Parts: sequence; structure tokens; C-alpha cells
Amino acid sequence: MNILVTGAAGFIGSAYVRLLLGDGLAEGPAVTRITVLDKLTYAGTLDNLDLADPRLRFVHGDICDAGLVDALTADADQVVHFAAESHVDRSIDSAAGFVRTNVLGTQTLLDAAVRHEVERFVHVSTDEVYGSVETGARAETDPLAPSSPYAASKASSDLVALACHRTHGLDVRVTRCTNNYGPRQFPEKIIPLFVTNLLDGREVPLYGDGRNRRDWLHVDDHCLGIDLVRAQGRPGEIYNLGGGTELTNRQLTDLLLAACGASAGLVRYVADRKGHDLRYSVRTDKARIELGYRPRHDLERGLAETVEWYRGNRAWWEPLKRRGPGR
Ligand code: NAD
Repeated sequence: MNILVTGAAGFIGSAYVRLLLGDGLAEGPAVTRITVLDKLTYAGTLDNLDLADPRLRFVHGDICDAGLVDALTADADQVVHFAAESHVDRSIDSAAGFVRTNVLGTQTLLDAAVRHEVERFVHVSTDEVYGSVETGARAETDPLAPSSPYAASKASSDLVALACHRTHGLDVRVTRCTNNYGPRQFPEKIIPLFVTNLLDGREVPLYGDGRNRRDWLHVDDHCLGIDLVRAQGRPGEIYNLGGGTELTNRQLTDLLLAACGASAGLVRYVADRKGHDLRYSVRTDKARIELGYRPRHDLERGLAETVEWYRGNRAWWEPLKRRGPGR
């Protein structure tokens, strides 16, 4: 089977490719070839992929390039779609690139998938599409109420993908996960930004009063969930995936300070992010009951291992940190 994986030079897509090439795969036919399509934006790096593996083919290109997408999709049995502009702060500075890649790029892939009768299309989305959840947890059937331009572009792409299922009968499956953590996350997101700053004895900028709450999901647990959806999910369905570990940003920061052996004096409270959602929370019973989805990683241990990974892999993150504005 040939799988086209978009955006796999980034954080989660590259972990998913490692899962497919390893033996942590959900049941189903063996994957014989993986084609990665990635534009290598500031967030993508070939260091994330084992290009020596003969089952892996890398194609440098844009998911909005209809000709290229058509050619690659013609050759694919299934598509797993990660490629996106993914950082909320950047979408607040400028939303156009988010709408282009996340909405138009997804539609370009879907059009090609319909044309070539691709057997399955997994669209990777986010819990942020539900907006801020003051109490309780959102189910897959709850309305979308995104706050940031990033979340709005992801919600739009979810709707375009699900409409493609209803209109054309394409087997589309949507996943909506909570905040991921783990090795190889670009050092602009809160965990790798804070860890790499703390390892250098630098301050960490904590938004607002630090009381925003997020559920944390290890990237490998997320990838296993995605693969369960790909292998055993149902067409046209949405599956929430979460870690079941909710923390305020201040609690998270304290865990990172402890794991890095750093002083609380390095925490600097900064003006809050515009439109900052207070809390995200999803119900994951659908994936648990239908697919047997269970996150395996303990948060404290997973965070400690993540810190150790960044401690041991400066050669990976130092050049990336020089690329971005370090938000
Ligand atoms: P990332 O920013 O680390 O990687 C994105 C990858 O997509 C990069 O390799 C980049 O080069 C590529 N890309 C961007 N624009 C492209 C384009 N036009 N054409 C081809 N490739 C392009 O992102 P990530 O954290 O790995 O997120 C992957 C997916 O998971 C995204 O769809 C994101 O919305 C979703 N998601 C992420 C999280 C999280 O916590 N990181 C949470 C929920 C959902």
C-alpha cells in the first residue's frame, strides 16, 4: 500500500512516518511505500525524516500546487494530511498564509483524492476548532466556535473535508486532538520554547495570568490514535483524541522548571495573547469505545523524557531557533 503523507517534515507528521516505518502500526495491510509531500517552510526540516529508508520518498512541494498534488495522489492508495501553518501567534500577525495552506491546500488535496478515487483520506485537525470550553468537554457533534485565525482555518478545512465526503462519497475521516508534546517540536510552541530557553538559563514568557488550561497528549499517542482512525475508523466520522491530562500553563511551567532544574525567577509574565482561549477540552469516549484508543504516556515522565531529548539534541534545535522569531 502506498500512503501519501503531507507535512511530514514537521513535528507530528514525522512522528507518524516513524510509526508507520516501525512496528507500532494499527492492524491493516502493510504499508509498502510512503510518499511525503512537504514545502519545508520554517517549520519543516529533513532532519526529521530517515531518508535512507527505501520505503520513504520525499517530495519537496506545496499542497496548493494542483498539478503536483494530482500526480502524487494518482499514485496513492490513502492520504494522511498533516501539512498546515500551525502556530496561533503567527496567525494573529498574519492570517492569509493560514487560509491559503490550511483551507485551499486541503481542498486541493481533496479534489485530487476524489479524481483518483483514493480509498481513504485522514484529515488531521485540532481541538481548537471548538473554541474555549469553560466547563465540561466537547463531543464530536458539538458546534464549531474557533477564536484564532489558525483555529478558524482548521475549522474551515474540517468542513470542506466533511462536505467532500457528503458530496462525493470520498472516505474522509477527521481527527481532532489536544496539544501535542514530545521530541522534534519546533521551538516556538510553549514546551520546546520554554525548555530550550531554560536549558540556556534564559527567561520564559508566560502569557497573561498563566491560568489558561490545556490537555497534553504525547505525540506518539496521538500518532497511534491517527493510525487507529485510518485503519479502523468509519468514513465521514470525526474522532477526538486527547491525553486526559489537563494543566494550567503555570502548572506546566512549574513541571518544566523542575525537569530542567531551573529557578522560578526565570518566569516572566507577559501581555496575554489576543483572543486567548481559556480552556480546551474534548470527550474521547468515541475513539476509546470504537477503536480501543488509549494514551500510553504518563505526562510527568513524558515531559521529563522530552526535556532530556532537547538536552541531548542541541544540534537539532539550535539552527531552528535561529530561523524563527522565537515567539
Ligand atoms: P508543524 O508546524 O510542526 O509542521 C507542519 C509541516 O507542514 C511542516 O513540515 C511544513 O513545512 C509543512 N507545510 C506547511 N505548509 C505547507 C504547504 N503549503 N505545503 C506542504 N507542506 C506544508 O505542525 P505540527 O505541529 O506537526 O502539526 C501537524 C498537524 O497537526 C497540523 O495540521 C496541525 O493543525 C495539527 N495539530 C497540531 C497540534 C499540536 O499540538 N502541534 C495540535 C492539534 C492539531
